[in-house]
Amino acid sequence: MDSGSIRRKFLEFFEKKGHTIVPSAPLVLKNDPTLLFTNSGMVQFKDYFLGNATPKSTRIADTQKCLRVSGKHNDLEEVGIDTYHHTMFEMLGNWSFGDYFKKEAIAWAWELLTEEYKLPKDRLYVTVFEGDAKENLPFDQDAYNFWKEHIAEDRILRGNKKDNFWEMGEMGPCGPCSEIHVDLRSEEEVKKIPGKDVVNMSHPQVIEIWNNVFMEFNRKADGSLEKLPAQHVDTGMGFERLCMAIQKKTSNYDTDVFTPLLDFIGQAAGIKYKAEEKTDIAMRVIADHVRAVSFAIADGQLPSNTGAGYVIRRILRRAVRYGFTFLNFKEPFIYKLVPVLGNQLRDVFPELESQKDYVGKVIFEEEASFLRTLEKGLKRMEGLSSISGEQAFELYDTYGFPLDLTSLIARERGFTVDEEGFKVEMEKQKSRSKAAAAKETGDWVLIGEDVKSEFIGYDFLESEIKIIKYRKVKQKNKEQFQLVFDRTPFYAESGGQVGDTGYIESANEKIYILDTKKENELIVHSADKLPENLTSSFNAIVDKHKRQLSMDNHSATHLLHAALRSVLGKHVEQKGSLVNDKVLRFDFSHFAAMTPAEIQKVEDIVNVKIREDIHLDEKRNVPIDQAKALGAMALFGEKYGDFVRVITFDPKFSVELCGGTHVKSTGNIGLFKIVSESSVAAGVRRIEAITAENAEQFVRTEIALLDEVRALLKNPKDLVASLKSLSEEKHALEKKIEAFNQEKANQLKDELARKALKSNGYSLILEKVSVPSADALKNVAYALRNQFDDLLLILAADVDSKPQVAVMIGEKLASTNAYHAGNMVKELAKEIDGGGGGQPFFATAGGKNLNGLDAVIEKARKLIQ
Ligand code: ATP
Ligand code: MG
Repeated sequence: MDSGSIRRKFLEFFEKKGHTIVPSAPLVLKNDPTLLFTNSGMVQFKDYFLGNATPKSTRIADTQKCLRVSGKHNDLEEVGIDTYHHTMFEMLGNWSFGDYFKKEAIAWAWELLTEEYKLPKDRLYVTVFEGDAKENLPFDQDAYNFWKEHIAEDRILRGNKKDNFWEMGEMGPCGPCSEIHVDLRSEEEVKKIPGKDVVNMSHPQVIEIWNNVFMEFNRKADGSLEKLPAQHVDTGMGFERLCMAIQKKTSNYDTDVFTPLLDFIGQAAGIKYKAEEKTDIAMRVIADHVRAVSFAIADGQLPSNTGAGYVIRRILRRAVRYGFTFLNFKEPFIYKLVPVLGNQLRDVFPELESQKDYVGKVIFEEEASFLRTLEKGLKRMEGLSSISGEQAFELYDTYGFPLDLTSLIARERGFTVDEEGFKVEMEKQKSRSKAAAAKETGDWVLIGEDVKSEFIGYDFLESEIKIIKYRKVKQKNKEQFQLVFDRTPFYAESGGQVGDTGYIESANEKIYILDTKKENELIVHSADKLPENLTSSFNAIVDKHKRQLSMDNHSATHLLHAALRSVLGKHVEQKGSLVNDKVLRFDFSHFAAMTPAEIQKVEDIVNVKIREDIHLDEKRNVPIDQAKALGAMALFGEKYGDFVRVITFDPKFSVELCGGTHVKSTGNIGLFKIVSESSVAAGVRRIEAITAENAEQFVRTEIALLDEVRALLKNPKDLVASLKSLSEEKHALEKKIEAFNQEKANQLKDELARKALKSNGYSLILEKVSVPSADALKNVAYALRNQFDDLLLILAADVDSKPQVAVMIGEKLASTNAYHAGNMVKELAKEIDGGGGGQPFFATAGGKNLNGLDAVIEKARKLIQ
């Protein structure tokens, strides 16, 4: 059975059991402060388990793109070394939200594996939770009893809390789980050691394929558990591992999920997969990492220096590094795999296929730049004969060199690296960043009933509200409170638009709302204190001015997007945006810098649309397919529900899926002005623009500046001509001064030549002089050197009111080594509080004390006696 059929069968099976099939959520998360990436199937359903949202169906199944490279789940170091952990993998899952529980989940899992996929029953093992006395948690007897109906009891193993008790995080839903393991070893090996002795022992062919979690409890901040009001099922099966078991392979990389990629890599490297362990690992690393990196970029996450972007950058660098060291890839290569991968998964995850040029380009640039860095790092290591912990850490931190690469290169060159010292530096950095990020979050405290909160801020900027719940958060020793209201006019930051600020007020107190953010679907308001009377009603008031300016910028962003597509072409797609009360920033895919003419054209179109005063057409709760039919573009990496909001400013011009707040009609925006166009990454440009009073202020400032310049120039008729002639005049004057100085220097030279004193073996010139520039002093000295080959010249000079000393020794005199100009200057410069040096025949020194020039002459006289 090929991998495509295996995936399809899973979904069809659960569809027949009454499940609704949903698409995978994006890999990259937007509204979850606790996670950077989706790391399991349940992430997109968190709100259902937390009770913040209601599922559209109580039974759901899907395949979810997952990434396990940071935080609680981090498999990165294993990937490529072993054969069954990936960075990105697909997790097949079925869910019950307060619907079926252990009995059905267990029966269906067994039916699917043994009857549909026909996995041999005598190679399967299951685990159930053994209980934990300390936590007051019982043995999972129910799961045991249900399994007993399908599988021999000696194949039901007991697992401890670490393996068989699942928790969402430090707080939140949790419960016992039951894993299914498969033994893929040869008959002989099975005879030698029975499978049940190898389960959960990290054997590469006796592995966990499926985990069924039974969510029964909620863990509170103090660590205690309470029973959830409804019980849920959350399962996750590793798709690539399942393919390995069904296709009777012993490595995920031998399945058709990976063979097309490995074939391509092998051909490019001219090395066969399975030729040698070292090159095999490198090939697996690349085949795996290209998947993670490509899908993350397709879902909107560019490689960068911070956060999720940095994680992606590190994965790509790890792949480049393995290719560079073991497969001899010295030029960008990984980007070439993008079309292979896109084509392979086009039916399941079309987001890659349709953006393959863009994704390939981003990867190419990243690879090229890291390969340059690698070279620089290699240079940095040249000439070293050992590497200290600090140097290894610098290579890691500044050049992105992992320690093993540094060690490898060092070994090749016959020296060692202080690995212990490196670890010490690493720990130091870790504790620095930990201290910065440490955040303590308290439990939600309920006030009255936990109703679902409603956002009313599209229609109202003021409203009477009640607080439903609150909690305390502490970060960097600052204490804040997060409040949730029964309904709220405050817009929570999302879609690039900042959260609202304002205040809530009751008869006797006023609490400022400092920010509003989303936590998944929950709207959370930050305040620096709690009201004394939490149960009273409050009037919630949004800062209207700030909101209006944000709306101006947000609507202008839509007009800008449409204008860019009409001027530059339909390849322009939004790649990011930021909208606040001061500025709008819009990132979009486009491969070249915009010309000034293009920028002006875009600006003109937007301003025309503003003057047309187009009325906002806002449609809420439109079925997603209908919205797309209206011409609204869904963005990759954005998670949309089945019903969406559509914002239209002229159906022929701008139709977008958007949850932001917008102006009633475009005339409100007033004026639109682009202030910059730049590059953010390969293939991504950024425009920053301003609107309304910010744009007016900008124009006003620019005009005031012009006025000031005009006044300085005595209000000429033609400002540009006047500035031009001023600059020409200056240029001409400079030339004149130069000629004048040259002449003066010549005169000085002649005068000094006349004063030269012939005495025992040299022509001595020892004088205090005044010259316009250091260059002139130097020229005079060299001119005299040409004239006297036994010259001993010592000048104490006033150079444009700064003291300098110059010593020049003629060619013949210099060859006797009787005098050393550098040493003499050093000594003489003390008299002018300065220092300097130079060559044995010519040296100069500057100083601070102009009054010391006479003393220089005195001292020089003594020196040459
Ligand atoms: P393991 O102990 O093998 O790392 P896990 O306990 O971390 O697995 P779960 O969190 O229960 O796994 O995830 C559910 C399923 O997802 C696993 O049974 C496995 O099939 C699959 N899985 C987990 N991590 C990975 C990974 N890094 N690559 C591929 N598949 C994975
Ligand atoms: Mg794991």
